[in-house]
Parts: sequence; C-alpha cells; structure tokens
Amino acid sequence: MTIGRPRPAVDALPEYRPGKGAAQAEAEHGITDAIKLASNENPLPPIASIADAVAAAARGTNRYADHRATEVRIRLAGRLGVDVSMVTAGCGSVGLLQQVALTYVDAGDEVVYPWRSFEVYPVYTQLMGGVAVTVPLTAELAFDLDAVARAVTPRTKVVFLANPNNPTGTAVSTSALAAMLDVISEETVVVVDEAYREFMDPALGDPVVDLLPRYANVLVTRTMSKAHGLAGVRFGYGVGHAAVVSAIDKTLAPFAVNALAQAAALAALDVESEIASRVATILAERARVIESLHDAGWWLPEAQANFVYLPLGARTDEVYLALEKRGVVTRPFSGEGIRVTIGSAAENDRFLGTLAEVAHP
Ligand SMILES: *Cc1c(COP(=O)(O)O)cnc(C)c1O
Repeated sequence: MTIGRPRPAVDALPEYRPGKGAAQAEAEHGITDAIKLASNENPLPPIASIADAVAAAARGTNRYADHRATEVRIRLAGRLGVDVSMVTAGCGSVGLLQQVALTYVDAGDEVVYPWRSFEVYPVYTQLMGGVAVTVPLTAELAFDLDAVARAVTPRTKVVFLANPNNPTGTAVSTSALAAMLDVISEETVVVVDEAYREFMDPALGDPVVDLLPRYANVLVTRTMSKAHGLAGVRFGYGVGHAAVVSAIDKTLAPFAVNALAQAAALAALDVESEIASRVATILAERARVIESLHDAGWWLPEAQANFVYLPLGARTDEVYLALEKRGVVTRPFSGEGIRVTIGSAAENDRFLGTLAEVAHP
C-alpha cells in the first residue's frame, strides 16, 4: 500500500536543495575551515539593534503576532511613498512568490519567465499544475524582454522576472521593462523580483516610482534577507496595485510573517544608513573580485547583485568540486556555471586564490 496519495504535481517535484553549508562540506571532504559562498547571504551578522529587537520580541512569543504586519506595512508605505493598501508582507519574498502562484495560477495556466533564473519559479508553477513557458537568456546571459513579451499570451497569468537575475546577476532598466509592459495585457501579473535591489546600479531605475503609477499589473517584491542580513528571520515585502495586494493577501498562511520577523523589519527600517554602508562595502568587494577575475582572463556577465557568475559550461561540476574540496563552497548549475557570493574580504581572497589553483579561463 502506498502511504498517502500526493498530488501528481507534488510527486513530480524535486526536493528543494538549499545551498550547501560549510559544515556539510567539511564533513563530506574531511576538511576544516570551509567557507560558504553558496546562498548569497550577507557575510556580517545582523546589526546589533536589529538582533536586540528580535531578542526583545522573543519574550512575547507566547502570543500570535499581527497577521497582517500592519505596523511594518505602514512604515514601508511611508518609506516608499505609496498608500498602505499597496504594500504586503510575506514569509520571505519566496513566501510572496508562492502566494502569487496560489493566487493566479490554475491547472493549465501559463507562467512565463526567462531561463535560467530563480529556481522557485518552476517549482511554484508546477505545484499549481501550471505550464511553464521559458524564454532563453541572451548570449550575455541577460533577459531578452522582447522575447518575454512575445511569449505572453491570453493564457499567461504571471510573468516572473528576477531583476537582477539569479544566478547570472544581469539586470534590466525600468525603461526596458516599460517597453515590455506596454505590450502586455493588464490581465497578466508581472512580478519584478528585486531580492538584490540594494546592490543594483540606481541608474537602472526604481520600478515602484517608474512603473507602478503606469502599470497596475506590476508587483515588485523585495526582501530583507540579502542586503539587510536577515535571511534567517524571513521577511519579504511586495508593492503593487491594491487589487493585487488584497488578492495575494488572502493566501498568506496565518501568522506566517512571525513576530520576530516583524520586529526585525521595523528595527531594520530604523538603521537604513548603516545597512547602506554595509552594502557599499559589499559593492567595493564585488568590484575587486570582478577586477581580479578579469585580470585572470575570465569573462563574466554583468554583476548587479551580491554575487558573480562564472559560466564554466561543461567544466562546471569539476571546478565546483575542486573548489569545494579545498573548502570553498559555491553554487553549481551543472553544465552551465557556478554562482559565487561576495563574502568578506578574506573569503573573497580565499575564493580567488583557490580558483586560480583549480581552473584557468
Ligand atoms: C534570495 C532570493 C529571494 C528571496 O529570498 P527570501 O529570503 O525568501 O526573501 C527571492 N528572489 C530571488 C531571485 C532570490 O535570489
């Protein structure tokens, strides 16, 4: 007898594979001192005032939190210059992406996204029985937005665009997005997933300012996991038309934006300049890593997030494993390339030195 009968859509899903941890790599290869550059985390622990706010909130966790995270939504709305009805909060921005799928995608509905891109898009599409329509990246590993627009049909419920893209790191401007949105029906929700917004060139524009007033079908998602260094507490937020926000709010699992996440988000909004200075440090390191890789002769796609992508093609698994055996854990995409998070200066030096030992352009 089979135990339970999972839906075929669930049965067919691969298990989610998070980036490998340093401890796991140490155990597998019998090494010490491994570093994890596999999950695009912030190398620094949270700012002390945020950790203190989380610790204080922990003392009240016998009570349920505010399901809607009202106070955080109000603060975010003020910060973003939009009405509070346009702001939602989720259990990480992946929680919001899942809510988008739950809200809009029925069996047989099409979901369009460039590929390769963020790995939850196919998972959430498949989970709903949706049909994934993928659009190849350009030779520079960037988005072809004309091709995305052409892939959208009346059956398309959702478009997912990671900007900057994970794992390639390339980004598109809001004016390029506007040209695409001009030819897409408002019946299709276009998600601009800005998990790495804080690391992007500001000259590429801000979709909240440049797109939301003109395109009611755009939902911008952001997170405190990357720039804010709060991946472990799970706070993401979305900004879009009130009709989109109220629809996806219906699918929020009760109290999924937990008390610690809300406390962390509020405290983070009090220390934005400190977060910006930490981001500046990561950007300086990113520039240094890119320069060093260029000097060594590597070609890289444009890096607009807190990682670099090395398109190693057929050599990917071999180089990934050689790095890992020497204690540098990166994220491989078999047959395509590796994604390497910008860590501390010492970690980045370790990556650069180890790469030079194991591979050449
Ligand atoms: C890391 C990441 C996210 C979000 O993560 P959360 O921790 O769930 O907020 C969302 N989108 C992309 C493209 C990412 O790389």
